[in-house]
Amino acid sequence: MQDIKRFEFWFIVGSQDLYGHETLKQVAEHARILAEDFAKDPRLPGTVVQKPVAISPAQIRKLFEEANATPACAGIITWMHTFSPSKMWIQGLASNKKPILHLHTQFNRDIPWADIDMDFMNLNQSAHGDREHGHIYARMRLPRKVVAGFWQDGEVRRRIAVWMRAAAARLDGIESVVLRLGDNMREVAVTEGDKVEAQIRFGWQVNTWGIGDLAAKYREVSDGSAEKLLAEYEAVYELAPELRSPGPGRKAVLEQAKIEIALKTMLEAEGAGAFTTTFQDLHGLPQLPGLAAQRLMAQGYGFGAEGDWKQSMLTHAAKVMAQGLPGGVSFMEDYTYHLEPGKEAALGAHMLEVCPSITGTKPRLEVHPLGIGGKAAPARLVFDAAPGPAVLATLIDLGDRFRVIVNEVEAIPIDHAMPKLPVARALWKPAPSLAEAAESWILAGGTHHSVYAPALTAEYFRDWAEMMGVEFVLIGGATKPERLRDELRWGEAYWQGR
Ligand code: MN
Repeated sequence: MQDIKRFEFWFIVGSQDLYGHETLKQVAEHARILAEDFAKDPRLPGTVVQKPVAISPAQIRKLFEEANATPACAGIITWMHTFSPSKMWIQGLASNKKPILHLHTQFNRDIPWADIDMDFMNLNQSAHGDREHGHIYARMRLPRKVVAGFWQDGEVRRRIAVWMRAAAARLDGIESVVLRLGDNMREVAVTEGDKVEAQIRFGWQVNTWGIGDLAAKYREVSDGSAEKLLAEYEAVYELAPELRSPGPGRKAVLEQAKIEIALKTMLEAEGAGAFTTTFQDLHGLPQLPGLAAQRLMAQGYGFGAEGDWKQSMLTHAAKVMAQGLPGGVSFMEDYTYHLEPGKEAALGAHMLEVCPSITGTKPRLEVHPLGIGGKAAPARLVFDAAPGPAVLATLIDLGDRFRVIVNEVEAIPIDHAMPKLPVARALWKPAPSLAEAAESWILAGGTHHSVYAPALTAEYFRDWAEMMGVEFVLIGGATKPERLRDELRWGEAYWQGR
């Protein structure tokens, strides 16, 4: 995964030449102080780059053209320190291809009651300059995030950071390849989708390779390389006793190690950030990639089972957003419910492929038969997801557009041993309640597959969807399914008018 620091965020402060040289000098100095403070704030990922104070239409147009031509520029932050007439910005904004964050702040926190005069008012008038600036975005129907507040406040920094991470995931997507091994699971609707539209919209290059390509690479991996990787497993996981000495179990682990090495070789050769598998197409492989998929996810690769390339790419995008944050990100599936009154919860898992980044404990490495796919018993990591807040996010294709659906959930401890269920799992209570969340998710057309992200909040996916020009649906504490159904219907008119 690319280092998030490589993404640049251009900071453009607007003014005009009406105020004279002294005022513009002060505006530039204040812009410098903000940009430097942002650049050294560890909460803000990426690199903040200060640009000259924007004061004329030609200069503003040139700034946006330069941004468009700068591959590392992931987004632009604008702030109107003084009044900056917005007709000056039209050509620049019309050509702009980068996500925008409109920062509505003020250099001074407090009004200097005793000393305030008209000069101070003219210098510190973002309260009206940013309204003029906001108007032109609204007038031109441009997507953007607006963050208002004092620039030193933690909440302002947090919201800027969320947007930066979403913008990094957007830019990463333009360079992303999803390597599909085989097709989607037969007859399944929700994992299908328009791959051409996905590339137009997200930049994702979704292409297919035959499972035979992986099987051939698998056969080339030496026993020595697999043994070396197994030694790494022994250092970071707790191995089931029967795997610690030679035998069929240890052999199964070595096979997964070979799959991991072969798959990683393919991903690196294709420059892929994500991949899919399907248990219906495993010719030439001894097992379904379980441990291998889990380990590659932990290294930042997106994964989708049964050919689900949309969730695979979304998992990768979420991993870019979550880089360096605590909590983890995994591919996930709603599996089964606990419907005891007052204790309703959803048990999420997959056959095998859940990322160990979401647990707070040492995963156990185990080998057990899998009742699906007709292959040998696969090695897998077994663990419980750490308790705490998380979101479930999914991406669906509605035929005329993509929709992102996010449900806010609270992971809870699993108090019962489940000795006959040796898979990684998460138990959560969805907001506002299991029944209302499930009704809402189903009304919105959400898939059984999702991205489970304790590292992120709904705001990341909202910002990302805004940049991508795709629909965003939140299911949270205030959601009422009947109201949501109306909103989804109103949304049809909005999206069809675009
Ligand atoms: Mn599945």
